[in-house]
Amino acid sequence: MHEAPIQDLDSDLDTFKFTPRRAAAQVSLRHLIKHRMLQTLQRLFQSPLIRLPVSWTGTLFGIVWASPLTAVGLALALPIVVFSGHAQLIRGHTLALLVRGKVADFMLQRHPFGAMNAMAIGHVVIAEKSGLSSRVLIHELAHVRQAACWGPFFPFAYLASSAWAALRGKNAYWHNRFEVAARKAEKHF
Ligand SMILES: [Zn+2]
Repeated sequence: MHEAPIQDLDSDLDTFKFTPRRAAAQVSLRHLIKHRMLQTLQRLFQSPLIRLPVSWTGTLFGIVWASPLTAVGLALALPIVVFSGHAQLIRGHTLALLVRGKVADFMLQRHPFGAMNAMAIGHVVIAEKSGLSSRVLIHELAHVRQAACWGPFFPFAYLASSAWAALRGKNAYWHNRFEVAARKAEKHF
């Protein structure tokens, strides 16, 4: 039976010795593998095969979650559409029903927080018959996404944010965190 000389074994072990350079190479290799894995995952999630079903599931969940608010919005939308108004489906980051008409103008002028150009209730956006700008629509669609996120708790969260702003001596509408976020969304327009 052949036995390797002890001297040779020692020299073999030497080649596996820990050296700072080898450790650095291992770290950079690990980093490279991690980076490639993240890139692959990112590509996978960006591919339509994954992205679209994930996005549709999210949209569907938001619609179901905000449905109690949307029901109120639809109840308000009904007389608007019935009295020579019209409804239009908006497909953006989420779905929304845009409703306009004479009755909408009447409601918006008498909004409890003051006259408004538009308002969102769940997935329903009630807007002025004329003069609805893209900026206003983007603002309202931001509120639709907030409703989809907070669901039935959205009105309470909204009022709590206004109350918190008022307690700090700030404007209850302007400094409401949901309004701040919606104004921020307008800037992407
Ligand atoms: Zn707003």
